[in-house]
Amino acid sequence: MINFTVGPVQMDDETMKLGAGQIPYFRTPEFSAVMKENERLLCKFFDAPEESRAIFMTGSGTASMEAGVLNFFTGKDRLLVVNGGSFGHRFVEICELHGIPFTEIKLDYGEPLKAAGLSLYENKGYTGFLIQLCETSTGILYDMDLVGDFCLRNHIFLFVDAVSGFMADAFSMRKMHVNAAITGSQKALSLPPSMSFTVLDEQAVLRCQNINVKNLYFNYPAYLRDGERGQTPFTPAVGTLLQLNEKLRRIEVAGGMPVQNRLAKERASYFRTGIKNLPLALLSEAKNLSNCVTALRLKNHDRSAYRVFELLKEEYGIWVCPNSGDMADRVFRVGHIGSISNEEFDRLIDALCKLYERNYL
Ligand SMILES: *Cc1c(COP(=O)(O)O)cnc(C)c1O
Repeated sequence: MINFTVGPVQMDDETMKLGAGQIPYFRTPEFSAVMKENERLLCKFFDAPEESRAIFMTGSGTASMEAGVLNFFTGKDRLLVVNGGSFGHRFVEICELHGIPFTEIKLDYGEPLKAAGLSLYENKGYTGFLIQLCETSTGILYDMDLVGDFCLRNHIFLFVDAVSGFMADAFSMRKMHVNAAITGSQKALSLPPSMSFTVLDEQAVLRCQNINVKNLYFNYPAYLRDGERGQTPFTPAVGTLLQLNEKLRRIEVAGGMPVQNRLAKERASYFRTGIKNLPLALLSEAKNLSNCVTALRLKNHDRSAYRVFELLKEEYGIWVCPNSGDMADRVFRVGHIGSISNEEFDRLIDALCKLYERNYL
């Protein structure tokens, strides 16, 4: 099978080789040294300010979305939550569940967040802002410079879910005034699913220490304390952390984030150009697209996007990503992250052309 989903994605040979070995005992100075390096490299690749810290959470991206909300906010906060798809909606659900007061900025699928839309919330006493870098369900890349400036001006704590956008799209905590951001192991880092990583600036560290959440497993101050000596409070996915270390080092040697962003952009453009003549429409305007994923709407209304997903899987040996909910029959997505070659994109483009000839598109 060729995997064009947005996670788990195809892993590199180096990562797979490491995954085949025994898992070492981890309460050792050797493992602590690996973890200190993981922290340094993650902070570097998020372009985090001096004194930033990283938290290594065993649990998928959603665990860190929920942990972040719990550790950074209380019932006394007032948040703005951008909801332009499934992952924005997940932040809404988390806030509702935990009784964090919020106002939802609801956007249509693929609709950009604009200055005019944000200006309604200027000087209104909001204390936190939740947004995705890339809303993976629609493939839109939000304007983080706009959001960062808004938050800086209004003294709002900015927490960014960069789970899918990290590595694919340009991202800088420093330049975008982001206080905390997360990514996950099974997205562009191309590791097995199991862990998510949060980078906290100095303000975020202070904030979670003051709140000191009543939660044993999702307790950031405990992770920060143990992290000072390169450890975690509980047994982490040790294998994934070793694979992370190898991957981060390899990224550094290869030129860091600018190179990764460029590679993702090249893959995305290659695919988008290849399907130009098919009856498929981009969900957002081209200038608002993330390099991580392309969401495609079927132009012919009597054809089913879910059927396209099934046929690609069953007859062509290809996984793309189906959408859920009210987009399930209209939209499917093609990921551009992980270890995928242009030859593999050619196979997908060929298969889509065949489905078109067979009247499924
Ligand atoms: C994948 C993803 C997550 C996390 O999903 P999990 O299934 O919990 O790993 C969170 N946010 C975004 C934007 C994502 O793409």
